[in-house]
Amino acid sequence: MSARTILIMGPPGAGKGTQASHLVSEYNLRHVATGDMLRDAVSAGTPLGVEAKGFMDRGELLPDDLVIGLLREVIAGLREDQGVLLDGFPRTVAQAEALALMLGELDRGIDVVLDVQVPKEVLVERLSGRWICRTCQTPYNVNSNPPAAPGVCDKDGGELYQRDDDSADAVTNRLDVYTAQTAPVSGFYREQGLLAEVNGNQPLAEVRRSLDGCITSAAR
Ligand code: AMP
Repeated sequence: MSARTILIMGPPGAGKGTQASHLVSEYNLRHVATGDMLRDAVSAGTPLGVEAKGFMDRGELLPDDLVIGLLREVIAGLREDQGVLLDGFPRTVAQAEALALMLGELDRGIDVVLDVQVPKEVLVERLSGRWICRTCQTPYNVNSNPPAAPGVCDKDGGELYQRDDDSADAVTNRLDVYTAQTAPVSGFYREQGLLAEVNGNQPLAEVRRSLDGCITSAAR
């Protein structure tokens, strides 16, 4: 039995980050989040980061070839027995097609694509209240999931910050981009019988339970 390959998708604010933290520890997966990798590249000022920053600040997707190149290195470096959770990739059908080729070269398939669904008005409310730990990336929400002490991460005491692209304009743009470019990716995986839709507009523990159920029942 090969190691698990699980994808998690959903619009910005669907709670992917929170659920991904649970999934990686529960199923011993390597967490590969393109958004986190790109934010690291921006902070480090690498050539990729310099190129990425404008797209990210505007809430636009980076060109496919840049992100596919970034993923190719990660996928090629995976150990055969290492499970992986892809978070934030693929975001376009072209990326999904490229991923199928990359995984095929390693004789890996996709176990399940978790699609976390939340109504748009709930997403806007969530994103405007979102704070993230600078050190471990754990997300909080000042309204629905606040840290014990304001501005401080419960897990490691790191400083919490708000992302530049969680501003009102960028949020609206990111949601429109998601509908136009990323929602078709769900259809791509639905046709392959890999899509598992989960209601993300329920308490965190319920969402977690639904995701666990999808993973358990995914064909192995
Ligand atoms: P995220 O943290 O997943 O919301 O990603 C933040 C931003 O990084 C996105 O709004 C895009 O600008 C960029 N990004 C992350 N993943 C991808 C991807 N797979 N394709 C293109 N752009 C991406």
